[in-house]
Amino acid sequence: MSVGYTERQQAMLQEMGIRVWVPPRVEVAEAAVPVVDVVVEGVGARVRGHDERGDVVARVVEVSAPVSGTVPEPVSELVPASVVALRSTGVAAMDWDALRAAVSSCRACTLCERRKQTVFGVGHPQAQWMLIGEAPGEQEDLQGEPFVGKAGQLLDNMLRAVGLTRSEAPAHEQVYIANVLKCRPPQNRNPEPQEVAQCEPYLLRQIALVQPKLILAMGRFAVQSLLKTAEPIGRLRGRVHEVQGVPVVVTYHPAYLLRNPLDKARSWEDLCLAREVMARAG
Ligand code: SF4
Repeated sequence: MSVGYTERQQAMLQEMGIRVWVPPRVEVAEAAVPVVDVVVEGVGARVRGHDERGDVVARVVEVSAPVSGTVPEPVSELVPASVVALRSTGVAAMDWDALRAAVSSCRACTLCERRKQTVFGVGHPQAQWMLIGEAPGEQEDLQGEPFVGKAGQLLDNMLRAVGLTRSEAPAHEQVYIANVLKCRPPQNRNPEPQEVAQCEPYLLRQIALVQPKLILAMGRFAVQSLLKTAEPIGRLRGRVHEVQGVPVVVTYHPAYLLRNPLDKARSWEDLCLAREVMARAG
């Protein structure tokens, strides 16, 4: 641990599993650097980062008073992994209310600038099935809900075919639906790796809170982001993967199926595999 922390602060950081590096001989003007508030239950830690020379200055300003669960402030695209990791630690301690508030006011990547609203996710908070897609499109951005419009209708039909729904129902029937990104990329372009890195802690926390028995990952981007792979969906389908200890079945995005209806049969095979996994899980 670095010079400049009290013993108590060092102990607290160690307890949190956080290693903070402070480069020597660097003074940072407050106004010149981006600020990230990392909030952990019972601990308020303010990190100041700057990218001059590619270094980060990080220090704990306040440790002791509980801090309510919010809100990562703007983060430069050059913010290094250590700062992202600190922020992830804060998100990983949030409950549903804190997580929802953090997402709705998040400005951790530039996608915040053009969104109409964030799209957090919908469904049963203890759903057995969790569906994960890519990012909000135009309609989702307007309505604040994932998978709306024609793709959403197709998804609803697919869910109905296996006895599931996104509407209110018991946890074994109602799914939870979330996207990898909570804000719409302009012109529905592919998400950038930096945007995924900033947004990923929210999705991982959603998975941890829902604790689903199965994740259905939908579409190339969601699948590859979730499984950390560049393999195409065609090679990932038909097998059971795992994320955070949860079995993951891979399938096509409903929007893709609207353009490629012949692949609906494959999508049905994927749903059948998912049902098998659920049956095995009891
Ligand atoms: S996409 Fe995610 S990380 Fe970026 S501003 Fe929206 S909520 Fe924050």
